[in-house]
Amino acid sequence: MRVKIDHSGCIGAGQCVRVAPEVFAQDEEDGMVILLDETPPPSQRDAVIKAAKLCPARIIDADDEEPLSRED
Ligand code: SF4
Repeated sequence: MRVKIDHSGCIGAGQCVRVAPEVFAQDEEDGMVILLDETPPPSQRDAVIKAAKLCPARIIDADDEEPLSRED
């Protein structure tokens, strides 16, 4: 999975940070999103997709085309 963000559209709502704190953070000064991990592991997939859906500005692009490495 690869995550991209259009930072210019961020309104600092913080939904992404709430659902996927290992992938997203917020700048302490202006509240804008900070992408912590551009290629999060499969364990973060559901949280990242949820964050993309919840983002009111719709600026989180979660490309899910890369195969997940499963060990089960
Ligand atoms: S949910 Fe969207 S608008 Fe809000 S901080 Fe995250 S990326 Fe920015």
